[in-house]
Amino acid sequence: MSYFIFVTGGVMSSLGKGIAASSIGTLLQSRGFSLRMKKLDPYINVDPGTMSPYKHGEVFVMEDGCEADLDFGHYERFTGIRCSSKDSLTTGRIYETVLTKERRGDYLGSDIQVIPHITNEIKNFILDGREDVDFIICEIGGTVGDIEGLPYIEALRQLSIEIGKSKTMCVHLTYLPYVKTAGELKTKPTQHSVKQLQSMGVQPDIILCRSEIEVPDEIKAKLSMFCNVKKENVITALDADSIYLIPEQHHVAGLDVQICDHFGIESPRKPNISDTWGALRGSILSPKKMAKVAVVGKYIKLKDAYISLTQAIIHGGFANDANVDIDWIDAEIGEDEILGRLSQVSGILIPGGFSSRGTNGKIAAIKYARENNIPFFGICLGMQLAVIESCRNVANVKDATSREFGDTGEFVIDFMSNWATGVKMEIRNEAGDKGGTMRLGSYRCIIANQDSLAYKIYDKREVTERHRHRYEVNLQKYSDTFDEAELVFSGLSVDGSLPEILERTDQDFFVATQAHPEFKSTPFAPHPMFKAFISASINR
Ligand code: GLN
Repeated sequence: MSYFIFVTGGVMSSLGKGIAASSIGTLLQSRGFSLRMKKLDPYINVDPGTMSPYKHGEVFVMEDGCEADLDFGHYERFTGIRCSSKDSLTTGRIYETVLTKERRGDYLGSDIQVIPHITNEIKNFILDGREDVDFIICEIGGTVGDIEGLPYIEALRQLSIEIGKSKTMCVHLTYLPYVKTAGELKTKPTQHSVKQLQSMGVQPDIILCRSEIEVPDEIKAKLSMFCNVKKENVITALDADSIYLIPEQHHVAGLDVQICDHFGIESPRKPNISDTWGALRGSILSPKKMAKVAVVGKYIKLKDAYISLTQAIIHGGFANDANVDIDWIDAEIGEDEILGRLSQVSGILIPGGFSSRGTNGKIAAIKYARENNIPFFGICLGMQLAVIESCRNVANVKDATSREFGDTGEFVIDFMSNWATGVKMEIRNEAGDKGGTMRLGSYRCIIANQDSLAYKIYDKREVTERHRHRYEVNLQKYSDTFDEAELVFSGLSVDGSLPEILERTDQDFFVATQAHPEFKSTPFAPHPMFKAFISASINR
């Protein structure tokens, strides 16, 4: 039987509940506990797959192809655990399940209600998989008080009665605004959000206080008194220069000690946080080298839209003891300005993306990288555009394009209605649903040629990477054009039909992948593609 830690958020969004939950996870791991990370998202979408990255940030893709909230990226990067579709729940998904059961007649005779039908589904989801681990850490999306969140808080309340208060705990992350003119941290917003939780029958056990300064003792005492929480359990979550400094910071603040104390449990081993997270501190705070790379993309105004990519670049920096300065270039600002900024960088990355908007700017950037031998790394759409660029400008097929961008042209990137994945035959219909129908999740890739850059990077003949795309390089129809364009597909799907990795042998470092390697990079195991790209960018 496991222990359950629920992470809720108060006062406002964007306080870093995902990072807080992830830190708790890694702190418990450092004490020898096993765990599972879950998230309940109160929105009504079935999953975030159809949401705009501008509104919701990146869509994270798991091994099994589940399209999930970006917090899962933090969970995986901090804990090294691989999450699955069983760990992600939304209101849309619950209603889908409940309504399917209703149509099937499972509830014959009853009217369906939020309590107990919806709350039962939430509880089943939280409890699922508890036999295998010591802890289940479950983050509740949104902010306490949101209408959509009510059934989730109610489910927590019921669970803590059913499982027992000694087996569950609520960690509430809040914000203490610092009012400069008064020179004071204010506790009222936190008091209100805790009251709101209490009015729903949930008493937080730990209050994690986001704050720009250390929370003084008297403020902790005040919060302890007004919020009915032990003073030692009012813990500062200080703003940090890097998210990777947070686990150690929480450890020093006593978070893991208080959690174990709450449950009355001994750790299987002494925490080794300073050997693990502490060892990263040097790379984070005083790296010896420096690289400046450009990311030319469409969603650059919202930092969260490229969160895994940003983290993977940072990890690539860790692997090279380098600080990486990223110039985020909006692909729509016009070619001249793009090229002007590219002349200042030593590496160019084109990330994944959707639709034709901004593609001309990205293609211009790829051409610039190719003509000036600047290290280039293309991801998903970035690989598709690299294929188009070489077809247009090297093989002289001027109307080479992707079917995603319009109805005419040579579709070197095309919609594949059916293809073998190596495991099963996939069938797609262009008019079909948009949600959940892309090539999603982990696929194998064979790197046959040991002289290829891909092999040098991975040092393996077979790799697996996560995918999220609808279109593919049309190798069946255009292999002659690709030869003329001097494109080398050094990684292929298991049946050889789908290009997975592209490189140009006339360049020092020009590589692109149909997959999204950024999803698998972690601070302790930087992804080899990012490691190699940053290394190439430093050595230029
Ligand atoms: N839009 C392209 C496709 O669907 C690429 C997707 C991506 O970059 N994730 O195939």
